[in-house]
This record gives sequence, C-alpha cells and structure tokens, in this order.
Amino acid sequence: MNSQTLVREAYEIVRRLRDNGYAGYLVGGYVRDTLLNREVKDVDIATSALPEQVMAIFPHTVPTGIKHGTVTVVMLHHAYEVTTFRKESGYRDRRRPNRVEFIAELREDLERRDFTINAMAMDAEGKLIDPFGGQADLRDGILRCVGDAERRFDEDALRMMRCIRFAGEYELQVERQTWEALMANRGKLKHIAMERIRGELERMLEGSHPYQALLLLSQSGLLSYTKAETGLQFTTGQVVQREQVLSVIAKLDDAWNKWALLLLTLKISPSSASQALRRLTFSRKNQDGICRIASFHEWLSGELELLNPRMEAALSGGKAADSMNRELATVWKKGALLHTPDIVRRWLSIYALLTAEALAADTVKPEISMLIERLVQNGQAWLDEIQAATLKDLAIGGSDLLALGAKPGPWVGRLLAQLQAEVVLGSLNNDRDELLRRSQQWIEEMIRYDE
Ligand code: ATP
Ligand code: MG
Repeated sequence: MNSQTLVREAYEIVRRLRDNGYAGYLVGGYVRDTLLNREVKDVDIATSALPEQVMAIFPHTVPTGIKHGTVTVVMLHHAYEVTTFRKESGYRDRRRPNRVEFIAELREDLERRDFTINAMAMDAEGKLIDPFGGQADLRDGILRCVGDAERRFDEDALRMMRCIRFAGEYELQVERQTWEALMANRGKLKHIAMERIRGELERMLEGSHPYQALLLLSQSGLLSYTKAETGLQFTTGQVVQREQVLSVIAKLDDAWNKWALLLLTLKISPSSASQALRRLTFSRKNQDGICRIASFHEWLSGELELLNPRMEAALSGGKAADSMNRELATVWKKGALLHTPDIVRRWLSIYALLTAEALAADTVKPEISMLIERLVQNGQAWLDEIQAATLKDLAIGGSDLLALGAKPGPWVGRLLAQLQAEVVLGSLNNDRDELLRRSQQWIEEMIRYDE
C-alpha cells in the first residue's frame, strides 16, 4: 500500500469539500497514527456535508452506510469513508445507537468518539484539532475516555474491549477513572455479539503487543463476562509467569500459529480450545487449523515422553546418535502422516522461535526439551525427506491396484493409505515397481485370507 497517495488523496477530498462550502477533516485513527509516526492503513474523513451532498460532489461514490451518514468516495488509487458529522443517542442494545443525528459542528462529532487519542482531527492544512487533549494523552502514554467513562462504557460495551486493544497496541496506561469504569461495567459485555468480541481479540493477538493486551484482559476479567461462555480465562499470575513465551506471539507471522502458541502456553487442551474458538465464532476453517496445531503438540509431547527414557538408556549405553535420531525421525514423520505436513511445519516454526530464545523448555515437560531441540534442528530436513506427503504423491494410484486383478472395494483406499504410511516412514521407496510388488503381495495375502 502506498501511504503517500493514501494521504494525498485524503487531503484532496477534504479540500474539495471545503471548495464546495463544507467543512471536512481527517479524523480518528489516521490522526493518532500520524502523531505517533506510525504507518497509516486507512484514512477516515468527517464532513458537515450530508451524504447526498457528498455524492453530488464526487463522481465515483458508493452509499455504503447512508443511514449512519457514510459514503465511500472512490479516488484514483484508494477508497475513503466520508461520514457526516453526527451525534448518537439512545443506545438501545448497548452496541448500536438507535438514532443518529447529523450535525453541523466537528466538535460534537469528536465528542461521541471513544477515547481522547481517537477524538482528534486535522484540517485541509494539516492543522490539529484536539479538544479533549488527545495529543497530550498520547505523549504521556495515557488512554482515557472522552467525557464520562462510566457513561461511555454503558452506551457501548464494546468500548471496553477496544480500551484493552488500544492500551495494548500503543502501550498506554489506562487512566484511573477509565479503568474503574471498565471494571464497574464489565457485566455489560454480555450485550455484545461474539463476532465483535472475536474481532477485538484477533486484533489484540495480531497486534504489536499481544502480551500487554493479554495482561490487561486478565486483570480486567472481561472474558468471564461474554454473552457465550468461552472457557478462555486466565489469571494475571498465569500471564505474568509466562511473559517471555507470550511475548513470542508478536514475533510469529501467522494468525493460526499465534493462537496455537497462546493455547499451548496457557495449557488449554485441544478440546477446550475447540469449544472456545467455536463460541467465539471463528470460522470452521480457522477453528480446525488452530486446534490441529494444538492437537499435534499434545500428540507429539506424548510420543516424546514415551521415547525419552529409551533415548536416555541408549545414550548411556553408548548407542550411536544416529540410531536415536532415526527413532525420533520416525515419530516426526508419523506426526506428518497423522497430522499433515502443513500442521507439523507450523509447529516447527513456533518451536524454532521458542528454541532460539531458549524458551521451549518453559512450555513442555523439562525432560523432553532436549528432544524438541533435536526436532527443531532436523525437523525441516526430515519433512523434506518424505517422498509421499499426500496420497496424490504416491507413485501408484487406485487404478494401478485394480489392474492387479482384484475386485474393487474399500480395500483400495486402505491399501493406498498403508503404502503411503510405509513410504513416509521409510520402509518402502516411492517407486512404482516396488509399490506394485508390495501390493501384489498384500492382495495375495488378502485372497488367501478370504479362502
Ligand atoms: P484502527 O482502525 O487502527 O483500529 P481506528 O481508530 O481507525 O483504529 P476504527 O474502529 O476504524 O478505529 O474507528 C474509527 C474511529 O471511529 C475511531 O478512531 C473512533 O474515533 C471512532 N469509533 C470507532 N468505534 C467506536 C466506538 N465503538 N465508540 C466510539 N467511537 C468509535
Ligand atoms: Mg480505522
């Protein structure tokens, strides 16, 4: 994304509004992120022009949220949400105001916004308009509600989740009255749809400082007050104790891996995780992906615990490191077979980071951490050795088996899976003739057994 054209075109919109006799400002996240020298992802614009007036000025617009005063203005490179100044009243369900009133003044529009750092504007000349001291709060590292915090959280309970997200993301201290109001209003989180809770949690975990957000979440206890019970609760003690491991979440570049590391750090079992993610309305695909990493971890830990005493005995018996490694490789490849190479690779990227920071031992039983280190060293090479990672990669297919002369039946699929397992574990080569020979043998045994 080209942030230069993003900002240039936004100013162009604001000037065009002004040239047509309306007030127009850049608002919200753009102003905050610019003051922090952060990269800007989008620019929202507020104006005194009514939606139809905005649509009359710009040739290419989309009425995306007319009821709330929002028109999307499409420029050459980017699209912008241009929203008429408004105030909101009568928060019926503690989430959406039931009435939106368009107004002429910027100040009132800023007043309805949640936090002082989000309630600033810039005019067409780039001059800052900051009636609630957002810039000073940013400088002092403080997150504060605009106006009476108690009322603001009562109006819209989602703001409590946003509070924690912003405090985490920008490493801000939540101002005392804001925090007290949050604690007093926690129960109202039950009015918020789980999708929105999930959205905030995802942004916390995928943001710059997930540890800070998790710490505040634990201190607030907010997650105990969601509409659907997630079971995703953790104490401040747990979070603090695992600070270093949880800080690694920020260094992972994939959302599934981040969630998986969170779950395994907090020792949440795959089945509880599955329930929590379902209640949080994660898509089927994301639930599965995240839980499969957690399941693989659980399976692998169990296998390593079984393997470990034998490894130690082998070591003290002076057995070659080679044969130890072979056994470990077999467990690993079996993991790829049962849990798919993709999931195994994801686990590997999590543990490569943990191992690099000498933290792997904090997440598993101490006796198996040596084995984990070996896996991190060799896991990728062992995955590369796998000749038939999927059934499709097998050198023969179902029609080859049928050509051997036996009647079609469920045995075809079973035999293919068996062959793949033997290839993955290295007892057969992925070689057409070798596989056909082995199949012939198997079919003969089957026929003999049938007779
Ligand atoms: P980011 O997009 O980086 O999360 P943002 O500040 O742009 O941050 P948005 O959710 O895009 O956040 O909202 C844009 C602006 O609208 C905010 O800066 C804030 O002024 C206002 N706003 C958004 N949600 C609320 C809310 N629930 N209550 C009050 N004001 C809100
Ligand atoms: Mg935004």
